[in-house]
Amino acid sequence: MKIALFTAKSYDKYYFDRQLSDTDHKITYFEDALNTDTAMLTRGYGAVCVFVNNTIDRETIEMIADFGVKVIALRAAGCNNIDLEAAEDAGLQVFRVPAYSPDAVAEHTAALILTLNRKTHKAYNRVRENDFSLDGLTGFNIHGKVVGVIGTGKIGTAFCRIMKGFGCSINAHDPYENDEVKEMGGTYMEVDELLAKSNIISLHCPLIPETKHMIDKKAIHKMKDSPMLINTSRGALVKTVDVIDGLKEKKIGSLGIDVYEQEENLFFQDLSEEVIQDDEISRLMTFPNVLITGHQAFLTKEALDEIAKITLQNLTDYEAGKDVENRVRP
Ligand code: NAD
Repeated sequence: MKIALFTAKSYDKYYFDRQLSDTDHKITYFEDALNTDTAMLTRGYGAVCVFVNNTIDRETIEMIADFGVKVIALRAAGCNNIDLEAAEDAGLQVFRVPAYSPDAVAEHTAALILTLNRKTHKAYNRVRENDFSLDGLTGFNIHGKVVGVIGTGKIGTAFCRIMKGFGCSINAHDPYENDEVKEMGGTYMEVDELLAKSNIISLHCPLIPETKHMIDKKAIHKMKDSPMLINTSRGALVKTVDVIDGLKEKKIGSLGIDVYEQEENLFFQDLSEEVIQDDEISRLMTFPNVLITGHQAFLTKEALDEIAKITLQNLTDYEAGKDVENRVRP
């Protein structure tokens, strides 16, 4: 199949090229995002391949359908960036990669917790300046703490396993209880109870209308005093302005995020020479107890290999006329 891959980065090219030799597919890499300005590039391609930083709206979908595209292959798990109704209306199938490496994301979540708690990012900079002082670097023992996990699917469960290894107890919230989490000793409860009882709260549910801004002013005021809040799922699960207020009021003890509500205008690009116009992320970056990474939780060799392999397999199955297991419908 002829595939137009958008927002191509060096690691996309490397890992997709490694997998291509086993297939009959051909990929053209475009650095630009797919939108109404670039849609004409898709003429003659059967599939487009996009990532989460690309908002694929109805207008773009209608244009690419007119140019002959039949498939949108998302090289990611979460698909909130695609207008699925519009894709269905235009007769396009949408595929995703539901579980390329839950461990990659779960391990990055643990990395955020450890860094934020033990301040290794600050210690690293201090020591490089020959500053061996310890003031301001005090953390807390993770062992014995209560971790609240919202969303116990693949990533949430992998994260529970890690935190169990640290000697934490697990509070969980999910409309569907997971036996593996229960076998680990995890206790399912309503979200309000979880917020009130957890020292560390970590979000692992998808962004859907019901979960948008689930962490807002009301939720923050239900939290146990000064918990650590971690979001490696999707930015808009958290209402950023309310979290900024929560940090100012010291209601939130610390914040670690790999995702951000307005990330599509910022993440995955080098803006070091630009004046950042987003005042909310700029305010977040002023807090000493906030740690931000730019949507890199998925970025391991194993995950990138799996993403490329499954994305191409989805397209191979489609071409073979099979019912593609990883198809997403509205
Ligand atoms: P999954 O589908 O296996 O699990 C999601 C879980 O959330 C399910 O168990 C579901 O029942 C639960 N859920 C749904 N609504 C809920 C609600 N209102 N409250 C609590 N739980 C709810 O998905 P996954 O593979 O574990 O991925 C989780 C999320 O992680 C994805 O949606 C994606 O947004 C995010 N993600 C982030 C990165 C990254 O690099 N930062 C990478 C991959 C995935």
